Amino acid sequence: MANKFNAPRWDIEAIFPGGSASKEFADFRLGLKKDLDATQKSLENLTGKIDPSSYAGWGQFILDMQKIYMKVYQASSFAGCLVSQDVNDADGHKIDAEIDVYNAQWSSMMTGFEEFSIKVSDDQWDEFIIAAKLADIRFFLDKMRERAKSKMAPEFERLVLDLAIDGYHGWNRLYDKMAGDLRADFVVDGETQSISMGQLAPKMDDPNREVRRLAFEKLEESWESRAELSALTLNSQAGFRLALYKNRNWDSILYEPLQAAKLKEESLEAMWSAISKATPGFQKYVDARKKLLGIDKYMWYDQTASVGKLDKTYSFPEAEDFIVEHIGSFSKEMGEFSRMALDKRWVEGEDRSGKAAGGFCTGFPIKQETRIFMTYTGTFGGLSTLAHELGHSYHSYVLKDLPIFASRYPMTLAETASTFNELRVKDAALELAADPGEKLMMLDQKLQDGYIMMCNLHARFIFDKAFYTERKTGIVSRKRLDELMLESQKKAYAGTLDDNGYHKLFWASKLHFYLTGQPFYNFPYTFGFLFAVGIYDRALKEGSAFAKAYKELLADTGGMMAEEVAQKHLGVDLTKEDYWADAVARVMSDIDPFVELAGKSDD
Ligand SMILES: [Zn+2]
Repeated sequence: MANKFNAPRWDIEAIFPGGSASKEFADFRLGLKKDLDATQKSLENLTGKIDPSSYAGWGQFILDMQKIYMKVYQASSFAGCLVSQDVNDADGHKIDAEIDVYNAQWSSMMTGFEEFSIKVSDDQWDEFIIAAKLADIRFFLDKMRERAKSKMAPEFERLVLDLAIDGYHGWNRLYDKMAGDLRADFVVDGETQSISMGQLAPKMDDPNREVRRLAFEKLEESWESRAELSALTLNSQAGFRLALYKNRNWDSILYEPLQAAKLKEESLEAMWSAISKATPGFQKYVDARKKLLGIDKYMWYDQTASVGKLDKTYSFPEAEDFIVEHIGSFSKEMGEFSRMALDKRWVEGEDRSGKAAGGFCTGFPIKQETRIFMTYTGTFGGLSTLAHELGHSYHSYVLKDLPIFASRYPMTLAETASTFNELRVKDAALELAADPGEKLMMLDQKLQDGYIMMCNLHARFIFDKAFYTERKTGIVSRKRLDELMLESQKKAYAGTLDDNGYHKLFWASKLHFYLTGQPFYNFPYTFGFLFAVGIYDRALKEGSAFAKAYKELLADTGGMMAEEVAQKHLGVDLTKEDYWADAVARVMSDIDPFVELAGKSDD
């Protein structure tokens, strides 16, 4: 495929040269293995000791484990880059599986420390933290101890971690392979091509409804051929998870994701409640879009079809300049950082087959760098995605000098900087647009985001909750999965989609349902989005003066609960619906201008 927008390939040679055959990377993994084994020995000498004379040894153990964690992280990120840039990189997949083993060994060794942490009293724990000088990573250690107290006996936990490598996580790998291999025949420029799901996805945004409809049909057809296998995969990994929860006496399926999200359930409930009250308000927006699109039934594949003036494209260098300028006008440092990341080719943007779908930003903590993966196709949406991923990259940059155990921000706060960047770039473009058609398109893109976050992501959350509840009592059939998905979508979309407009195989086509590392990876997007809308609003009111506070907020994301971050840096209470209702109202405030512009474009 022609790379007509001059999107670059990334430079990952600077991390390890030679791709999956890299000798440096092989040596690095060997060193990692040696470190793990040596630290394992020191753990064996410490095991069982809880008297104050062992505190220094345990302290050293944790610092060693922190160093190894950075290495595992770096190796895992690199393997992730290899298999994303080429889903057929067999050696890359092998390396990825190898690192899963190191990751599991590391986690298994951590249970040795967890054992120590739950055996000592609270007073002894305080003494240990002080004696071992671990105050800067205390939040991480406290949370780990709290979690350990809620788990099974350490010998059982170790066994589970061992079994999870080829059991639990194996299902996730199987799904990824299945999704990566899936192909659909699609006519492109009069020629039938066999294309990946990643290449099919953008066709569902096509301005031509027939292309969209066909792309959606192909998507459902492709996943229909894998539906039974997907149902088996989903049931198996969920079964593993639930069996584990049962043995840990965790009643709530939200216990793990909320712990990981550093979030209280009240905050989540307050957010969804505010959202449910507002979503019927999208009807006006959907009606205006139906008119613009010239359709009478609003289908799944109409949600992301662009409206307004569509011919505006940005070459990759144009997108770069636009982002750097408008991020930089809020914070000079953020602008300079973005420029540096782009100049050093931290971004993989080329449009070619064999790449994984989607976009992400991944970190190399030892190298103190990040890499961004996406497929850039010249659209305004592509520009926004680039800004989004650069936000993630900046967030990592803000945290890079902290100990890694103090910089592990929860999923809930992971989308803050990315969404902030996106909003900034979108509003800048909106303000500059002289053409009403262009303005309409941009307002629509903003509203599409809100619509997705508040409806699509809510549907995923409702589905996950319903599915896990039913899975507790047995296998959930493929047919039932379809039903649950339809019910979830109907509820979350509040009647804004046509009765026949839903995507019942969404539970199969969406990789997020299969992420074993991150259960319920849906609400953090919505949370992060609305949380960022609030922060962005603050930035609009206070201008560049807010840049310092914004950076400080990001720097605290790895060291406290989400509620505490909000209280400290914004003075708001996330467990109350007010904050969320305000954020939701800010999103919905684009609807009236959109409807008005849409009406004018009729004339
Ligand atoms: Zn993101």
